[in-house]
Amino acid sequence: MSNFDSQNSPNYSEEEGTSRSSNPFTFLLYIVVIVGLVFIYFLFNNNSNLTLINWEKFNHEMLNDNDVEKVDIVNNEIAEVYIKKESLRKAKYNSVSTGFWGNVNNGPHFYFAIGSVDLFEKKLDAAQAGLLEKDKLVVDYVKRESYLPKLLSWIFPILLFIFLWFFIIRRITSGVGRTGNTIFDFGRSNPKLYEKGKYSNITFKDLAGYEEAKVEVMEIVDFLKHPENYTKLGAKIPKGILLVGAPGTGKTLMAKAVAGEAEVPFFSLSGSEFIEMFVGVGASRVRDLFEKAKRKAPSIIFIDEIDTIGRLRSKSISFQANDERDSTLNQLLAELDGFDPNTGVIVLAATNRADILDPALLRAGRFDRHIYLELPNKQERIAIFGVHMKSLVIDTNVDVVYLATQTPGFSGADIANVCNEAALIAARKKKLSIDTQDFFDAIDRMMAGIEKKSKLISPIEKNIIAYHEAGHAVVSWFLKNIDSLQKVTIIPRGKSLGGAWYLPEERQIITYSQFFDFICAALGGRVAEEIVFNEASSGALDDLEKITKQAYMMVANLGLSKKIGHVSFYDSTGEYESSIQKPYSESTAMLIDDEVRKIIEDAHTRAKNLLELNRNKLDDLAKRLLEKEVVYKSDLEEVLGKRTFTI
Ligand code: ADP
Repeated sequence: MSNFDSQNSPNYSEEEGTSRSSNPFTFLLYIVVIVGLVFIYFLFNNNSNLTLINWEKFNHEMLNDNDVEKVDIVNNEIAEVYIKKESLRKAKYNSVSTGFWGNVNNGPHFYFAIGSVDLFEKKLDAAQAGLLEKDKLVVDYVKRESYLPKLLSWIFPILLFIFLWFFIIRRITSGVGRTGNTIFDFGRSNPKLYEKGKYSNITFKDLAGYEEAKVEVMEIVDFLKHPENYTKLGAKIPKGILLVGAPGTGKTLMAKAVAGEAEVPFFSLSGSEFIEMFVGVGASRVRDLFEKAKRKAPSIIFIDEIDTIGRLRSKSISFQANDERDSTLNQLLAELDGFDPNTGVIVLAATNRADILDPALLRAGRFDRHIYLELPNKQERIAIFGVHMKSLVIDTNVDVVYLATQTPGFSGADIANVCNEAALIAARKKKLSIDTQDFFDAIDRMMAGIEKKSKLISPIEKNIIAYHEAGHAVVSWFLKNIDSLQKVTIIPRGKSLGGAWYLPEERQIITYSQFFDFICAALGGRVAEEIVFNEASSGALDDLEKITKQAYMMVANLGLSKKIGHVSFYDSTGEYESSIQKPYSESTAMLIDDEVRKIIEDAHTRAKNLLELNRNKLDDLAKRLLEKEVVYKSDLEEVLGKRTFTI
């Protein structure tokens, strides 16, 4: 939501400084484990210099030469041969005479499989047939157990299992986002932390307008700075404040400014970060976030997009995802209730849909204060332009008031974007300062996308587009309730092939006749095509979509149709949003459709009458558009005459 983060403040996480990827301790641990394993190997495996032979070699080369000191039969399977010390000097024993570390090898030096003890004894007896009993070879029978293979057979599968587990979890968590960097981090929140002076310097000066809202949050700032003034009187400060406003209206900025003014740490987390693919993570993240904030109290927690967790809890059949959201919300409620209001932690939350939040969240003692950040009015827009122009090199002829007049409906974020865009446009043209035209271009671009002069349009198509745009212009010129037209163009921009720019009035309410006039003006393009070319084209898609929505809104939600009457099927709670069933009967649905069609038909007839009456003007304007591609208000006045009504 907020593009603030990318502009002004680096993202500092609380764990900053303890880089996980190249932790020296982990590296040391690896080395210790490897050295340990090598050590164990040599400890258990002291027979490293033992050479495999067979009976023949043993008999002919060793026994016959009287080199053998003794033979151990290990576990009735293997014969281990010890060579006499003096015989070890012989060249044929060079390979076994010394041990691993260069010491004298006391044996055993060789080994071979005996097949069976009986067989071995028979062969040995036969080999030593002529010898005296005392000269015969000493044979010992030993039982030896090797623990290492057994140990390994236990440890190996366990190690493999742990390794696989680590691996899988790591893969999963790395895909989930920036939280949960290691397997132990699932349940931990990873909020961005801002501290005034240290990480961010935002104060109320950076937040233009919203004077009433500022007064309201000033109380919070004052409490965070001087809690004793409140606690000594026994006052309880609100724990939760809900900032409600459309995207880009400065909710995040407001929360940051509160933290900046109060000079307290500011923990920022988005609602969606609580809910991830693991069940139960949300709740523990909430717990962790509050713990972190309490440790740094006084502090501010900011939860952006709280509607992702705070939606009205589901009453119908609950699915897994809803369960997780519900448990996260329950934990949030528990945390809000759990801490003493005077601990110095204040929770600010932002949403653009307060109407769909669970009432439990809005109850007294929780988010009971609501601050509405509306889209800025003209005065506020002037102030916001002021804030964002401060760092730019602006031409002296730029009129901020005029720019604010041109941008009704723009949010603070949009205005910040316009300023930046204007600077980029000026830089592209290698200008020394940003002038009015750059701002106009930036506003146009924001509203309709970038100009696409290179888009290939055939002359026939261009003619249709020119009549279409001229149709909009002529119809709206003669309708009382349509805003004053500023410019008409047939230069393609973004997806659209042309457009008409109006200077919109700020309206809080819209009357029936205003709605009707909008629909007429929006149909102007299509009607012009019908009159001039005797057929319609696909060019009116956007217009038709807009007017259909508007007409349905009038009939079904605003009670502006006599036949439907003063009823509204608008659902501010969002409960019907996901249900398939409509809140009205089949016959009402048909009636709504009929009424919508009638409104649009009537508007079509009116637009047609207007254009037929002014056919010459339509032709003139289309011609001028084809010549110039862009026509301004002065051209319009020349062709269509001065407007008799100003709105
Ligand atoms: P939200 O959280 O409501 O979506 P943000 O607080 O993230 O909006 O606002 C986005 C950007 O818009 C801010 O970083 C700031 O540059 C600009 N902005 C919005 N409102 C204002 C304002 N009143 N004054 C100055 N800048 C504003």
